[in-house]
Amino acid sequence: MQIYKFGGASVKDADSIRNVASILEKNPRKDILIVISAMGKTTNALEEVVENYFQQNQEGLAQSIDKVKDFHYQIINTLFENKNHPIYWKIDGLFGEISSFLERNKSPKYSFVYDQIVSFGELISTQIISHYLNDKGIRNTWLDARNLVKTNSNYQEGEVDWQETERSIRESINPSLMYVTQGFIGSDPNYFTTTLGREGSDYSAAIFAYCLKGENVTIWKDVAGVLNADPRYFSQTQLLEKIPYQEAIELAFYGASVIHPKTLQPLQRLDIPLNVRSFLHPEQAGSSVCNVKELSPKIPCYIRKQHQHLLSLSSLDFSFIAEENISFIFNLLATYQIKVSLLQNSAISFNLCIEDKYKNLSFLLEDLSKRFKVSCTENVVLYTVRHAQQDSFDFLGQDKEILLEQFAQNTQQKIVRDETLIL
Ligand code: ASP
Ligand code: MG
Repeated sequence: MQIYKFGGASVKDADSIRNVASILEKNPRKDILIVISAMGKTTNALEEVVENYFQQNQEGLAQSIDKVKDFHYQIINTLFENKNHPIYWKIDGLFGEISSFLERNKSPKYSFVYDQIVSFGELISTQIISHYLNDKGIRNTWLDARNLVKTNSNYQEGEVDWQETERSIRESINPSLMYVTQGFIGSDPNYFTTTLGREGSDYSAAIFAYCLKGENVTIWKDVAGVLNADPRYFSQTQLLEKIPYQEAIELAFYGASVIHPKTLQPLQRLDIPLNVRSFLHPEQAGSSVCNVKELSPKIPCYIRKQHQHLLSLSSLDFSFIAEENISFIFNLLATYQIKVSLLQNSAISFNLCIEDKYKNLSFLLEDLSKRFKVSCTENVVLYTVRHAQQDSFDFLGQDKEILLEQFAQNTQQKIVRDETLIL
């Protein structure tokens, strides 16, 4: 069985959905499980609904729901000429469920409410696309991923119960047929909806592929494949054709954003190739993350990670920064949910490049300054070059103030102050 994943950008309007149908029509195979995200920016729009609900802003709430409705009805009106088509009452029903949940809900828990509401983006998109494909003769069955992907009750970041998930997926899917299902969502042991974290649909595709022992996963994107650098910041980019799993994991770890980092491990475990292809140019092969020894072509890869802070710590009394101090530092980082992107230590100083997603930096600095001399440079950019060639590292950050450099075998890194560096 093949697993296809279509993200928000690939189903953002009626024409894009027609394009999905044409991609499927060209593939003679019928044994495909299609995982789909919410259309366009729907997830953000539903997040606004949740915000308004918690702020008890009645007018804003009604407006934000209407925005999501209008967007989808416009697409349905374009795709389905027959106004008595069952899709209309299906989608009316889903919007009805949103309203009645919000009316009845008593839970003050943000992340619980978030998952119950935001998941409708995927439920709506898959209903529309499944019906549309069936009408075009692309026979498929719609599946509710909440009955298949089982997680714990860690709302907004559900952790997969692999045993239960594998059991339900294998029970419900006939590997010779075509299915349409949702990315990003699952359910907890009480069947409340959970989500897997923003941009989690790639991960869903990997979960299905792993449980079905799929042949391959194809992620359809608006780029040609995996490039050796982010075209928003680097003027010359090249397509990576074959990428070893380990290399893709490293690239994702250092901040390359093409592939959701959790996606790769289940696939690597069963040697399932992950193809990244362009839905605009489906005739092109794109990139494949698979079981190869070497990156091909073997060229330097550049990763730019912004919103970083550089911390330098030294002891107040000229003593060494040793194990006990280091464990103190890492405990604080864990407490404040601050991620470390780079680490460099010498006998008397300790440098950390950190990412503060939850805005806890000031608390961290306050606690650290009780024990260390602390200096912090906010808003730095971390550049990582994998497989640098002679001058591929030097030209990074030219003319910029370089705050720190680090060299390891295949990975060279540089922290610079300037945010707007374009090469
Ligand atoms: N719709 C979800 C999001 O935008 C999941 C995904 O697209 O992967 O985060
Ligand atoms: Mg999305």
